[in-house]
Amino acid sequence: MITIKDKEKCCGCSACMNICPVNAIEMTPDSQGFLYPSANTQTCISCGKCESVCPILNPEKESAFEQEAYIIQHKDPEILKDSTSGGAFTAIAESVLDEGGVVFGAGYGENFRVIHKFAENSGELHSFRNSKYVQSDKGKSFSEARKFLREGRRVLFSGTPCEVEGLLKFLGSESEAPLLVTVDIVCHAVSSPAVWNAFLNIVDAANAQDLRFRDKDKYSYLYSQFAVVREKSRSVYEGIETNIMMRAFFSNVCDRPLCYSCKFKKRYRVSDFTLWDCWDASDFTKDSGKFTHNAGITRILVHTQKGRGILPEILSRCIHAKINPDDAVRVSSREMFYPVPKDEERYAKFWESFGHDPEGTLRKFFPRTFKTRLESFLRKIAFRTGIYSFVRKMYKKILGERKR
Ligand SMILES: Cc1cc2nc3c(=O)[nH]c(=O)nc-3n(C[C@H](O)[C@H](O)[C@H](O)COP(=O)(O)OP(=O)(O)OC[C@H]3O[C@@H](n4cnc5c(N)ncnc54)[C@H](O)[C@@H]3O)c2cc1C
Ligand code: SF4
Ligand code: SF4
Ligand code: SF4
Repeated sequence: MITIKDKEKCCGCSACMNICPVNAIEMTPDSQGFLYPSANTQTCISCGKCESVCPILNPEKESAFEQEAYIIQHKDPEILKDSTSGGAFTAIAESVLDEGGVVFGAGYGENFRVIHKFAENSGELHSFRNSKYVQSDKGKSFSEARKFLREGRRVLFSGTPCEVEGLLKFLGSESEAPLLVTVDIVCHAVSSPAVWNAFLNIVDAANAQDLRFRDKDKYSYLYSQFAVVREKSRSVYEGIETNIMMRAFFSNVCDRPLCYSCKFKKRYRVSDFTLWDCWDASDFTKDSGKFTHNAGITRILVHTQKGRGILPEILSRCIHAKINPDDAVRVSSREMFYPVPKDEERYAKFWESFGHDPEGTLRKFFPRTFKTRLESFLRKIAFRTGIYSFVRKMYKKILGERKR
């Protein structure tokens, strides 16, 4: 029976809860809002299944294999604008839906709770587009995915690398099913759902129509904004230097404990595809002029034969260029390999304060100051004068790594 003694040893994938034959496991939130399994000793029949599917207890060994890499941009301008980067996820999802398949991804549930759910038509894909930098509640999505596979339907499951490894462990031999396609992302980390809830109160999300972490409406892809979408004239857009949630995410003060020592960060993965941002096509191809400038491009690493099999269908929906996989993982890909750093002192102070006053803590740790306003102003000026890309490149050169 699974018991969590150390929170750094659980990614919250829910594989154990989904596999339990007697429903003895419940996923319950801790004070940070992260879900952990707790098993009912009265109901448990000691079958050991929960331990056998846990991706932490049964880690995948990484070994090199042949990969292909592309940079791609969806041809549909509306889908591209709605997506975080180049809309690669939607191109993959559409190819699965076209064959009568089902697509699982992270979207919003009631009151903007981030949850995993499924879509059966392309109109429902909007909910999955645009990254939500908060850990999702997987609920029974692994069991639902298995049910669809058993019915003979094609299934696409998209999520963080730990979620995809958890799903494949849960499916066991069924993970080999030709009908299953998996997509993961290069994953910085996931933020606390409790912090997200406090942020929702601060922005009065109850009166918002949509919340978008990487909105391209105002300043396109390179300087995408957090958008609180209300009736058009009342929407609020903020960049990463002023928006509280984006600052909390990039400050690494509120990530899931395991994210600070994540072992799922690697190049050779169990998924079929890995997606991540491509900031500048000219870093990878001489043919960069064919992509719409600053509209967003996704890097895609293809790991499997199955992935290669459906690639033509995906690429037919996109402007694309084949690139060298070694280049793909070398440029601006720190998050593919290294866990986020943890400042123990700031972490402890943040959570001590958050326990007493969640919203006050966010305002205190991420205040609007003269410096943040100035940075925001300068970024906007750089964007309007067309030198934003150049300044970013210089910034990256100086720091040795591009800031997102
Ligand atoms: C938590 C998180 C951290 C990320 N960190 C990085 C990074 O450090 N560097 C980098 O280059 N790219 C990172 N990405 C990936 C990047 O933001 C884009 O998702 C990627 O470029 C694909 O864009 P797209 O336009 O093809 O897909 P989109 O249309 O934006 O589709 C988004 C996809 O991400 C999934 N997704 C959204 N939110 C979550 C969530 N909370 N949990 C699980 N899956 C989710 C959706 O199900 C969908 O499959 C991260 C994404 C997430 C969700
Ligand atoms: S040992 Fe079996 S019955 Fe007990 S919690 Fe784990 S999966 Fe459920
Ligand atoms: S299976 Fe997933 S949720 Fe369950 S203990 Fe392991 S990591 Fe945690
Ligand atoms: S950083 Fe690692 S542990 Fe954290 S959500 Fe991403 S893949 Fe999972």
